[in-house]
Amino acid sequence: MRAMVLERQHEPLRAAELPDPEPAQGQVLISVAACGVCRTDLHIVDGDLTEPKLPLILGHQIVGTVVGAGEEAGRFATGDRVGVPWLGWTCGECRYCTGGRENLCDRARFTGYDIDGGYAELAVADQRYCFPIPDGYPDEQAAPLLCAGLIGYRALRLVGDAERIGFYGFGASAHILCQVAVDQGRRVFVFTKEGDAEGQEFARSLGAEWTGASTEAPPEELDGAIVFAPAGPLMTAALRVSAKGARIISAGIHMSDIPSFPYEILWGERVLGSVANLTRRDGEEFLELASQVPVRTEVEVHPLAGADDALDSIRSGRLRGAAVLDIAGG
Ligand SMILES: [Zn+2]
Ligand SMILES: [Zn+2]
Repeated sequence: MRAMVLERQHEPLRAAELPDPEPAQGQVLISVAACGVCRTDLHIVDGDLTEPKLPLILGHQIVGTVVGAGEEAGRFATGDRVGVPWLGWTCGECRYCTGGRENLCDRARFTGYDIDGGYAELAVADQRYCFPIPDGYPDEQAAPLLCAGLIGYRALRLVGDAERIGFYGFGASAHILCQVAVDQGRRVFVFTKEGDAEGQEFARSLGAEWTGASTEAPPEELDGAIVFAPAGPLMTAALRVSAKGARIISAGIHMSDIPSFPYEILWGERVLGSVANLTRRDGEEFLELASQVPVRTEVEVHPLAGADDALDSIRSGRLRGAAVLDIAGG
């Protein structure tokens, strides 16, 4: 199969011909149609996340068709369309797994980090962590739902029932969550880099009530915020414009340091928090919700061989919506 391989961090991916993977017990073999490109992939390449399997096939937003199965892997039939998310395996035994918080499993293994992912024509995945993909979504538009969408959805749940919600950064995840939040009757305030008129216009087209720079104060206090951009100072910026009781949640896996701040801006039962990974329940709930809303993902499509360009478009911030590799088409 063709694949894009990360041999070493801080280096471009290498196009390679690899032997087809074999599904082990409990695994399905998937012909990858599309794979979303996530900021986490960039953090892996750039060395912000320090312990990837190497060499590694990145990619944890896989949409494809089941073309084979190992022993005791009868959950899906050949030809079924499935999605493979970031959570690739959990132990099922630790206090997190047994307490309904498998996203925090001490021994969790992640797709495109500990396990080879979807920047390839074929992938294997533990069938228990795959999701059926709702009909009606083309492969490329379904792919970003699997991380940008569903980890963002977990962050939205952690914000609670905030009516006036701030989004700091407006990339793949925020453009999906904006649609969900508006559908839930929330009022969305979007903060971008200063002067990003195009990004702000995009946010308003998806229902944001107000847009501005992250240094600006919104017209009203926020009841909660999700910080999508990996910049610690945005956590305190959000805190400073939030109402009492607001929950400010970081949605990323990596963030620069959060500056120190006076206690008085946290006082009033404000909370700073983070979201980590996903549970299978998050995935099932979110995929159903996404097709009800319905969420429309805006995607910039790259060929498999153009994976580095797709990563660059996230790095530069010039991307509108989500980047996706079209693997079936080239
Ligand atoms: Zn566990
Ligand atoms: Zn991701």
